[in-house]
Amino acid sequence: MEEVRAAILAACSPLPAVDVPLAEALGCVAAAAASAPADVPAWANSAMDGYAVRAADTASPPARLEVVGLLPAGAAPGPGHAVGPGRAVRIMTGAPMPPGADAVVMVERTAAVDGGGAVVVEAAVRPGENVREPGGDLRAGQEVVAPGAQLTPALLGVLASIGQARARVHRRPAVGVLSTGDELVEGPAPLLPGQIYDSNRPMLAGLVREAACSAVDLGRAPDDAGAIAKALDAALDGCDAVLLTGGVSMGDFDFVGGVFAGLGTAREWKVAIKPGKPLAWGVLRGRPVFGLPGNPVSAAVSFELFARPALRRLLGLAQPVRPSVPAVADEPFRRRTDGKLHLVRVVVAVDPADGLVHARSAGGQGSHMLGALAAGNALALVPDGDGVAAGARLEVLPLGPG
Ligand code: AMP
Ligand code: MG
Repeated sequence: MEEVRAAILAACSPLPAVDVPLAEALGCVAAAAASAPADVPAWANSAMDGYAVRAADTASPPARLEVVGLLPAGAAPGPGHAVGPGRAVRIMTGAPMPPGADAVVMVERTAAVDGGGAVVVEAAVRPGENVREPGGDLRAGQEVVAPGAQLTPALLGVLASIGQARARVHRRPAVGVLSTGDELVEGPAPLLPGQIYDSNRPMLAGLVREAACSAVDLGRAPDDAGAIAKALDAALDGCDAVLLTGGVSMGDFDFVGGVFAGLGTAREWKVAIKPGKPLAWGVLRGRPVFGLPGNPVSAAVSFELFARPALRRLLGLAQPVRPSVPAVADEPFRRRTDGKLHLVRVVVAVDPADGLVHARSAGGQGSHMLGALAAGNALALVPDGDGVAAGARLEVLPLGPG
């Protein structure tokens, strides 16, 4: 598994840098640093709805102050808002501090009197209290996004807060998904004898999108080398990578590996894992192409182990392989020695009793059984041997976005 992954990753590199609107940048990876051009906040402003005051005037409450103006958010203070001794300005959260004021008393600690012409402050405030200082969030010149950072919703907010409308990122990979197999049809058409519904294409397209790439639906191709080659060739220019499923085993109608070899550099592996042993792979016109197994669980597992790391590298992530985490086996995971790493669909959860991640089987483990894949949220790595006893530790690979 490691050897195959290393060979694949060695042929993948981050896509070129582009400028994209923030609205299209979620999940993309920064190709350049971004720094704050100015302090954020740019000027001192109120953290509360209340009254901007001179803190010294509130030292012995109650204190009656004359209200000389009103500052809603979005207003700019003028000379008329100056807060001299014995004065206050009614101020809303986010409005700039008026000249002369050094603190804000929250409205709940005040009582308006004289029809709003004056206010009684019922509690003392310290200088700076309820005031947001300039640069309190970000200092001018401070790096806010490092190259290689994956843009989260919060980072998009940070970029917007420094006035950026666009982000410099590695282009989001467009990943084609092509199912192969004469038996495949799509619902709701009823199945004719021998037919099955194509479950891999929507599943793989979903995995692609979960991995922050965009999915290109390439439809289905029959078990025909010419048809597969034609569909792949037509799709390559519009895709940065292509995932095919089916037709990579030793059957009489498994043509995908041969098609890859005819179009570019290609390899066919029997990986020492279960499920997901057969894998075809190639670099066609500079783009990685994956021939994933047809069995749905095998396709998903192979995606996790081989395609996701490649897509993460195209995205620009420095860590293409997501880490496994230690867990406690809540039941025995028995197996026989066969020279392979077994990837068992499990449900993992933190047990509040000990704070540790615990794993239990998610159900039937056949490579055609999507039910347990759907019910689970991780793959347990059960090393070659006779398995893992209940209560023992094992590593799990969490599934899901990223
Ligand atoms: P293959 O890799 O073509 O030998 O297919 C292995 C098994 O996976 C067979 O039972 C196929 O019918 C099934 N299979 C192949 N492609 C798909 C697909 N797109 N959706 C669901 N099952 C599939
Ligand atoms: Mg087939």
